[in-house]
Amino acid sequence: MKIIQADYIYTPNGYIHHQAVAFSDKIEEIAKVDTLKDTYPDAEIIQMQDHSILYPGFINTHVHLEFSSNKTSLKYGDFMPWLDSVIQHREALVGECDNAVMMQQCQKMMASGVTTFGAISSFGNELEVCEKTPQRVVFFNELIGSNAMYADMLYGDFMERVKASMSCEKSSRISPAIAIHSPYSVHPIILQKAVTVAKQHQLPLSAHFLESKAERIWLEEGKGAFKGFFEKYFNTSTPVSTIQEFMYAFDTHPTHFTHCTQAKQDELDYLAQKGHSIAHCPRSNRYLGCGRLPIENLNLPYTIATDGLSSNDSLSILDELRAILMMHHDIPMNTLALQLIDAITSKASDILGLNCGRIEVGRLADFAIITLDEKPKREEELALWTILHSKKVTQLYIEGERYL
Ligand SMILES: [Zn+2]
Repeated sequence: MKIIQADYIYTPNGYIHHQAVAFSDKIEEIAKVDTLKDTYPDAEIIQMQDHSILYPGFINTHVHLEFSSNKTSLKYGDFMPWLDSVIQHREALVGECDNAVMMQQCQKMMASGVTTFGAISSFGNELEVCEKTPQRVVFFNELIGSNAMYADMLYGDFMERVKASMSCEKSSRISPAIAIHSPYSVHPIILQKAVTVAKQHQLPLSAHFLESKAERIWLEEGKGAFKGFFEKYFNTSTPVSTIQEFMYAFDTHPTHFTHCTQAKQDELDYLAQKGHSIAHCPRSNRYLGCGRLPIENLNLPYTIATDGLSSNDSLSILDELRAILMMHHDIPMNTLALQLIDAITSKASDILGLNCGRIEVGRLADFAIITLDEKPKREEELALWTILHSKKVTQLYIEGERYL
């Protein structure tokens, strides 16, 4: 048993003061430190520095580790030139991205407080690293394949990867999940099969959706920059799905849709009505010229994610939160800061079906501790100061073990 004491603890009832948490691999009790010492006389006492705040471990719901070696190869600013640059440099980038490179990025995520992440995996290359990192990983096996001729083969490969992620050691903290690449790149027949598998096994399901203007024009009119792209690389000139057909395919299983920057209000309303949610990747959206998701009007739950280094400059969730504060200037600062802390803790764990994300009895003891440089003068600003002043966490625990 361990007892950790910090000036503030972020709980489902907000920030609490003068309390401590007793934990094993799970949170056992929250009370005054003297009470806990009486109850658990042999517990190890962890006294955090002054001005520290104990948070549930942060969750980055959407990461592509396989692109971790990109720095200046991919073209930023507009989606289609970026996609062309991915095709051009993909082999080299994936080749340079060995386990050491990916592990370094897992550690950087941990330094920003991330105890859980959603790994979007095209080929399964990341599985070994995800098994090795102490972090909790929701391993999203991605399905891609729009050409009916190859769809069965691609689906077979996808199912092999799903099975491999299902049979990981319990100690690895991996949970299997399914990702659908996008409405333009997955044939409706295999899409439906994959959704059925997610439903049967109750796996988290995710899909990129309405990221760029070009995607919208292609799905609606069969025109625009994607037409040239599909003619050039895939010898086809008609989209495999409409926006509606794609959305309806997920009606029976709650799905975490990534981006949705080009979704219209009626589409967002439909997603909300079906119990879906959104992964918001603000820096990725900005770097690829995809627009801004108006989170001030969203009527469905959202999480925050960095996406991969293919469309970002870091995998730090704290960097991502600071970017959001700058981008979404219509929401009052403190209100937004509090929403963001919720988005990377309780909201994300609920959406991914995990028992972390909240400091309450019975939850897994995943913690991120941040330390402010001086005493916060007003309690209502704790979330804001956390986001603005924290580049790294002070300590990090996963299932009760300290890793930083
Ligand atoms: Zn993505």
